[in-house]
Amino acid sequence: MRGVVFDVKRGSVKDGPGIRTSVFFKGCPLRCIWCHNPESWLPEPEPDGDGVIGRETSVEALMEEILVDRIFYRASGGGITLTGGEPMMQFPFLRELLAAAKAEKISTALDTCGFAPWEEYREILGLIDLFLYDFKAADSIRHRELTGVENELILENLCRLNEAGAVIFLRCPLVPGVNDSPEHLAAIAGWAERLSGVEEVTLEPYHPLGMEKAERLGRCGTLKCRNFPPSESVNAWRKTVASRTRKRVVVS
Ligand code: SF4
Repeated sequence: MRGVVFDVKRGSVKDGPGIRTSVFFKGCPLRCIWCHNPESWLPEPEPDGDGVIGRETSVEALMEEILVDRIFYRASGGGITLTGGEPMMQFPFLRELLAAAKAEKISTALDTCGFAPWEEYREILGLIDLFLYDFKAADSIRHRELTGVENELILENLCRLNEAGAVIFLRCPLVPGVNDSPEHLAAIAGWAERLSGVEEVTLEPYHPLGMEKAERLGRCGTLKCRNFPPSESVNAWRKTVASRTRKRVVVS
């Protein structure tokens, strides 16, 4: 079983609890206007100057890389995070990698945009300890403007995962003037409150660090913002969301 990844980051502390190895899968069905990983969009390896973005690999080879840090996962409560891109785009490979990690008793997290068939989520539910689930816009038309797809399937999958007992961190990219309205912040808090499986709301303030890559690859969205949001705005977002939900609210 072979798949295509474009990065493996050891020692990550941002993609879930503890110390983690993050595996970045290639391929994504969305086209978020703020995307800072545009090199993930196409499913296959692709040329980039003198190099290549992405490499084919096997579950066995990835597990070798993953197991190097096993001692750190145990000591810190960490594990692996499968991210991208959208890992569900390579479902058979994802399923086999998850099964291999579980066989080694490695904790697993899946970072997903939610845009995949429910049957596939259901199939791997028992192999995933934590879902890092994106929430980008509550309104479907707005969601399409921002990401290229409507959000009915995404919200339906979120509800079904919740009903099935999944542990969920709701990951909310926030872009000033784009999706930081009081209504959107209230919607984030409302979904977190309603879904018992949501343990944390992770606010992810926009950063422009992917802009250079996007320009190089000719994949710029309509968002041309080159500034980080001011810390006052970020604090205000956190306070607003935290005042409306009892769930943990953190800024990533
Ligand atoms: S889901 Fe993630 S990787 Fe895909 S376009 Fe959006 S930000 Fe980029």
